[in-house]
Amino acid sequence: MTRTAVYPGSFDPVTNGHLDIIIRAAGMFDRLIIGVLVNSSKKPVFSTEERVELLEKAIPKIPGCQIEVMSFEGLLADFVTLVGATTIVKGLRAVSDFEYEFQMALANRKINHRLDTIFLMTSERYMYLSSSIVREIGKYGGDISDFIPKAVKDDVIKKLWKGNK
Ligand code: ADP
Repeated sequence: MTRTAVYPGSFDPVTNGHLDIIIRAAGMFDRLIIGVLVNSSKKPVFSTEERVELLEKAIPKIPGCQIEVMSFEGLLADFVTLVGATTIVKGLRAVSDFEYEFQMALANRKINHRLDTIFLMTSERYMYLSSSIVREIGKYGGDISDFIPKAVKDDVIKKLWKGNK
C-alpha cells in the first residue's frame, strides 16, 4: 500500500520552516503532495506558478519518498481525495496556530470522515519563521538568506526587492 499525504499551504514564498516539515514528513510517507493554495484569502505576492516553481527548485530528492508539487483551488478535503490521500500534514509553530488548525482538522473530517490531520511541531530554530516575515524583511532589502532555501534565495530576493520599487 502506498502511503500518501498532502501538505497544504500558501508557500508565499517557501521558507526553511516549510522545507523542514517537508523533509520530516517525507520520512513518514511514500508519496507527499505539496498542495499550493491558489485562492488564498490573502492576495499572494508570488503567483501560483512562481510558488510552485520555487518549491520544485527548493525541495531536495529524498530517497523513499516521491514528492510532487501541485496547485489546487477549492476545498482541501476534495483535493486530498482527488490525489488518493487520507492524511493531511500541517506544521505547528505556536499555541496561536493551534486553535485554527484544530477547527480546520475537525471540519475536514466532518466533510470526509476518512481524513486525518497530523501535526508536526516546528523545529525550534524555525519557530518564529513565516512567509510574511520573509516578505516584509525582503521588501526592504534585509538579509533573508537564513530564512529561505539556498536554491531559491536569488529568485526570492529579486522579486521582493523589485516589488518595492
Ligand atoms: P505561512 O504563510 O504562515 O508561512 P503557509 O500557509 O505557507 O503559512 O504554511 C503552510 C503550512 O506550513 C502550515 O501548516 C503552517 O503551519 C506550516 N508552517 C509554516 N511555517 C512553519 C514553520 N516555521 N515551522 C513549522 N511549520 C510551519
